[in-house]
Amino acid sequence: MTALRLTEPDLDFIKELQKTGGESLKKCFQCATCSVVCQLSPDNNPFPRKEMIWAQWGQKERLVSDHHVWLCHQCNDCSTNCPRGARPGDVLAAVRAQSIRHYSIPGFMTKIVQDPKLILVALAIPVLYVLAMLGVDGHLSTLIHPPKAEVEYGSYFLSHLTLNIMFTSAFVIFLLGGLVGLTRFINDMKKTDPIPGDKDPGFIKAVIAAFFELLAHRKFKKCTAGSNRYFSHFGLFYGFALLFIVTSIVVLLILVAPDTYPINSLSNPLKLAGNLGAILLIGGGLIAIYDRLTTPDLAGQSSYFDWFFLLVILTVGITGLLTEIARFTNASSWAYWMYFFHIVFVFCLLCYLPYSKFGHLLYRFFAIVHSKRVGGYPE
Ligand code: SF4
Ligand code: SF4
Repeated sequence: MTALRLTEPDLDFIKELQKTGGESLKKCFQCATCSVVCQLSPDNNPFPRKEMIWAQWGQKERLVSDHHVWLCHQCNDCSTNCPRGARPGDVLAAVRAQSIRHYSIPGFMTKIVQDPKLILVALAIPVLYVLAMLGVDGHLSTLIHPPKAEVEYGSYFLSHLTLNIMFTSAFVIFLLGGLVGLTRFINDMKKTDPIPGDKDPGFIKAVIAAFFELLAHRKFKKCTAGSNRYFSHFGLFYGFALLFIVTSIVVLLILVAPDTYPINSLSNPLKLAGNLGAILLIGGGLIAIYDRLTTPDLAGQSSYFDWFFLLVILTVGITGLLTEIARFTNASSWAYWMYFFHIVFVFCLLCYLPYSKFGHLLYRFFAIVHSKRVGGYPE
């Protein structure tokens, strides 16, 4: 006989979900249409109907550790077919934001990044940090009195050594906080949905399969209502990946062969790859913003959590391109300011990764890994 389990609803959690995009969750009357139409829902343990009732009951612990929430790509096929207008796709998006908020540490950083009232604090941290880096290099005055000489960011603004050491240190510290949160999430997923020994392909095999799954973007192609999501996500994902790889190679180059930097030819393979990455990033960001503004029913209700990430990633791409244009055209009057803003927004993107929507890169990846290990990944 199944044991009776009494649970208290977490009313604050329900209110938070409603405030962050899931305001319609109470409308659900459990018809299960959403689970039937969802192309990504596994037959043996479908979502999002069960998540809707958990959300109505305020079952926070169950929801924040539910790997199914992360298999959803917010295509909103379910929301457009829901007879009650309960918008399950948006409710799951709100649960994902709460999951990141629940697990990431330190908690105050999550508040700074996710609370619109604290946006000035979120921006002040990188601004002050970049100013401190400039102070270490003795180049604070470059912003006020840019040198008349040819634009050269390493010589007159941030030295490669300071940038590499101070920026990388900040990134690693923030990332460590994120990894602790991610580990807690992985452990809770295992407690909530234990991995059965007979179906488990093993951690390594599941990681490799999840990696190729992400590269292929296969699941996005199954979306019908929000089909543009494939293109926006493709641009953002591959744009960021290209830029991250190029930047990592440049950091290594500066360490082992400093004379090869800066690169002065636009046809250099690293420059070509970097510029392609920026164009993909900007293109993906613009499609996502356009969809959110013109077809919110299909693209999903947008919360501050979504907008912060989208605007930061778009700004990174645009300021990166403008920084390069300013160097090649020798526009010293605004080049250093553009580079300053670029570094500030790269800081917001990378160092805030564990606390912002960008964290879904890690959470979704390990949710797919878990799903493959429990035998519940829809093929
Ligand atoms: S969210 Fe809508 S479609 Fe899904 S179970 Fe509830 S009422 Fe039905
Ligand atoms: S938004 Fe799309 S992927 Fe997510 S539950 Fe609804 S139908 Fe499934």
